Amino acid sequence: MTNDATKSAMTRRELLETIGKAAGSSVVLAPLVRTVFAIPDAMAAGAAPLNGVAGVDRIAMLRGKTYLNGWAGYGDPPRRQPPRRGEPGPPQLPEPPGPPPTVTWSKQSGPGAVTFADPRAPVTTATFSAPGAYVLKLTVANGQTTVSSQLNVTVELPPPAGHLDPVATKPYEIDSRLWNSRAKALIVSWIPHCIDQINRTDLTQGPGGIDNFIEAAKALAGQPHGNHKGYVFSNAWVHQTVEAMSIALMIDPKGDAEIIAAQAKMKATLDDWIPKILAAQEPDGYLQTAFTLDRPPRRDSTTGREIPVESSKFKHWDPPHRGDHEGYTAGYFLESAINHYTMTGGKDARLYNAAKKLADCWYDHIGPAPKQEWFDGHQEMEQALVRFGRFVNETEGNGKGQKYIQLAKFLFDCRKGGTEYDQSHLPVVQQYEAVGHAVRAVYTYSGMTDIAIETGDSDYQAAARSLWDSIVNRKYYVTGGVGSGESSEGFGPDYSLRNRAYCESCSSCGEIFFQWKMNLLYRDATYADLYEETLYNGLLGSLDHEGRNFYYDNPLDANVPRYPWHSCPCCVGNISRTLLMLPTWMYARSADGIYVNLFIGSTVTVENVAGTDVQLVQATDYPWNGKVSITVNPKTSKRFAIRIRVPNRNVSALYKGTPESGGIASVAVNGSVMKPAIEHGYAVIARTWKAGDRIDFTLPLQVQRVRANEKIAADKDRVALRYGPLVYNIEQVDQDIAKALGPSSALRAEWNANLLGGVMVIRGTFADGSPLMAIPNHARYNRNPPLPPPPPAPAPPPGGGRAARPAPPPPTSIVWIREA
Ligand SMILES: [Zn+2]
Repeated sequence: MTNDATKSAMTRRELLETIGKAAGSSVVLAPLVRTVFAIPDAMAAGAAPLNGVAGVDRIAMLRGKTYLNGWAGYGDPPRRQPPRRGEPGPPQLPEPPGPPPTVTWSKQSGPGAVTFADPRAPVTTATFSAPGAYVLKLTVANGQTTVSSQLNVTVELPPPAGHLDPVATKPYEIDSRLWNSRAKALIVSWIPHCIDQINRTDLTQGPGGIDNFIEAAKALAGQPHGNHKGYVFSNAWVHQTVEAMSIALMIDPKGDAEIIAAQAKMKATLDDWIPKILAAQEPDGYLQTAFTLDRPPRRDSTTGREIPVESSKFKHWDPPHRGDHEGYTAGYFLESAINHYTMTGGKDARLYNAAKKLADCWYDHIGPAPKQEWFDGHQEMEQALVRFGRFVNETEGNGKGQKYIQLAKFLFDCRKGGTEYDQSHLPVVQQYEAVGHAVRAVYTYSGMTDIAIETGDSDYQAAARSLWDSIVNRKYYVTGGVGSGESSEGFGPDYSLRNRAYCESCSSCGEIFFQWKMNLLYRDATYADLYEETLYNGLLGSLDHEGRNFYYDNPLDANVPRYPWHSCPCCVGNISRTLLMLPTWMYARSADGIYVNLFIGSTVTVENVAGTDVQLVQATDYPWNGKVSITVNPKTSKRFAIRIRVPNRNVSALYKGTPESGGIASVAVNGSVMKPAIEHGYAVIARTWKAGDRIDFTLPLQVQRVRANEKIAADKDRVALRYGPLVYNIEQVDQDIAKALGPSSALRAEWNANLLGGVMVIRGTFADGSPLMAIPNHARYNRNPPLPPPPPAPAPPPGGGRAARPAPPPPTSIVWIREA
């Protein structure tokens, strides 16, 4: 055995010891096998075959590198997943059955040269001399046997220089049948309901609202006080509701008495809550009430035994407490402060100053030595720090916010040595497959895209693009939702997209953030095509029509109604703040103009375009009707470009809608028809704009049949219906949803003013001739009769353990219709 072979080979025992120690980045496990520290029987018997795994497909940037995390050994490579509670850690292994293997990397095909940093090391890097598709090969040999494994790398040009700038949500008006009704449900029902719930002190499900702040303030003042209530991150729904109220207060009520009354309640609530929140901030700026108060006794879910009160003497940023959501709650606080400050026009800086104090507290403790390393179990602080850093730069100038952006990157760069569940199994820049908890994942990828935007780092660019590709082309639902739920609240393997999906509302929010930032990075409409899909389906459908109930998870096979509250303090505020931030999703800004990403009847001002502010008045009934008119009102006449997104409904390789429906038609400026150039998915209209100039165009909308890639077993012989960005459901309340649609049945869109406040339905006939009616996915489950009470819980089996779960009720509202 040569020295090289010694260096590059790793025995199975060493490998598992490495996992057990949760070591750093030097050893990386190819994520291909689902076993959790399991030794296949054949392996234990000494019969496991020689194996080599080259890694997952990915995208690399020209002039950047890709990280090769090959694996060589016997049997299956292990996968870094957390052991389940009560399960033992890594097992002791017998010595491997064969001699240590050697590895060799080589190029199998591709248009340019490939340079491996060390072609004899399983863990190394490769760089490429030309863009295009490459196949790399990992050859593994032990002197008797040789095996090999392939890896596809697509090498792309890096994103264009000069990213887009976000458009902050500031006071705006909505003039849209769909969006006025959705915003009103949020403003008059959902947000006031959240306020009431958070003010309550008697909740048994999902407790821990403003009372935690009140008690923490008492603790800080040395007064008698209660324990912390609810999850360690229960501060999240307070911060997110503050943010949602701040945004809701920026929406013009246009004389609607109910909206005006709800906004008055929000103002009064902010007046009440803000001093309470500020009083719970520790003198050094730290803010999380679960660290200021004692935590309540808990019950172990397996043994039923009571776990005593935990002391409040938790160290901040202590690795055994990565799961305590310190960055998660801190991040939402920073984000709430941005929108509150903006809503007050910069007049009330109380939350902004407190947020700076909190961000500074993090900055003073977390960083390169002598400060400490840190990463959180639940990502959010990273993207919040970038958003906050940009906001501080804008508000105070002189690059004063840069340090927060640097801290965000430092938090990401610390992330390694853990498990796939929270995306710490590898350094983030070496992650090319979307894995683990879906919300944590998309928050990571969203924050990584921020770092790619802010730094131009090619490792971050390549990882963000690869993760995007992994989701959109292999792990993405037709509703724009993510997370099949096959791993804990998370992603499953490629193409494994069961329709009893997880698709948490927060993962839809995170998916929107991720796609939106990719749009800013690439200046390409593709990403806005995708977040429009998630916004109109995955996210909009999380609330009921009245705004009184919500879904935590959004399976495509729906079988339960929405509910008013939940034990987990995440989605309830995230849904409203994300849905109401419409101007940010609608527009982006470049040095030379405005990008129009969404079509919603509204009046929004985009500031600082070619040296002037531009009011944009969209008149449209989209998505019910494809006619759009945009009146452009610059404060002073200026030359700039307006780029209008040309919808492409077939971005994901997983789904194909027919007939083609997308594109843009009959574009006219001030009544004169023109043929704009199309660049990166945008129709470009560059001219000197003066107040009152008008662009008219049509976005063709028609009913599409969508079929899934044959690799998605769950959708085999099924078809989904789509109209514009809207995916449709058929519901048992209207028809027998087990029936099949014939391939040639005519389908038509029809306006129904009396259904669900006015909605475009799709009508057709099933193969047996009976009528079919489909409603938009976001409007699903608003008319279904209440379910019968659930059967009593089955008794636990004798001898302890958990009782078997009752079978879930069958779906009564579905996206994928059987096709005859
Ligand atoms: Zn959530």
